[in-house]
Amino acid sequence: GRKDQAVVIADDWPGYELELFTYPEHYRDDVESVYIPHGVIMNRIECLARDILEDMGHANLMVLCVLKGGYKFCADLVESVKAQSQSSDRPITTRVEFIRLKSYLNDCSTEDLHIIGPEDLSMLRGKNVLIVEAIVDTGKTMTMLLKHVEKFQPKTVKVAGLLVKRIPGRATTLPDYVGFVIPNRFVVGYALDYNEYFRDLNHICVISERGKLKYKL
Ligand code: 5GP
Repeated sequence: GRKDQAVVIADDWPGYELELFTYPEHYRDDVESVYIPHGVIMNRIECLARDILEDMGHANLMVLCVLKGGYKFCADLVESVKAQSQSSDRPITTRVEFIRLKSYLNDCSTEDLHIIGPEDLSMLRGKNVLIVEAIVDTGKTMTMLLKHVEKFQPKTVKVAGLLVKRIPGRATTLPDYVGFVIPNRFVVGYALDYNEYFRDLNHICVISERGKLKYKL
């Protein structure tokens, strides 16, 4: 199935040297390497969009974007689904709703995970829902969100996760569509932040010790 299909990044992958790519000058010493270049992310998203269209073409898709980290992935994924739908015989209509969650302080997952809004997701009732998340780490967020979404009685629920961390002994379920399986390291960029910084970096990068200190709360 699709769940076994993903680009797998090995534990010893050091990333590309920063100077081989363009990036915002103000982050020069704040990241160690370019872990996944923007162009690679974009191509992988095209593949996920193709799979989603294959599974859910001819349907009305209700996309639930998990903010803030998921905003770029969601925008690019929906654009790609639309573009491929138009150039094929699989018409699909998409609507996007947003939900905001928060659980991280600095680079640590905290126990108190909360939905900041909206409370009411009754627009999901009877719909084919695609939850779009940038990263699945422990899987707690995804599990909680799935439980929450089910309460509103959607017709179907699927999850797209751009990144899934490889965590030894993980028991939780994987997203239905996975972009990359990555080692258990803290990554930033492509809307993923460290205390709100690095969202304006297009590549997915590994933060440096200096970067962690500089933007620590
Ligand atoms: P989980 O509940 O799966 O442990 O955590 C998921 C959330 O933690 C993500 O939605 C994201 O906000 C945050 N997160 C987990 N790992 C990373 C990471 O490597 N980088 C960033 N920027 N956020 C992360």
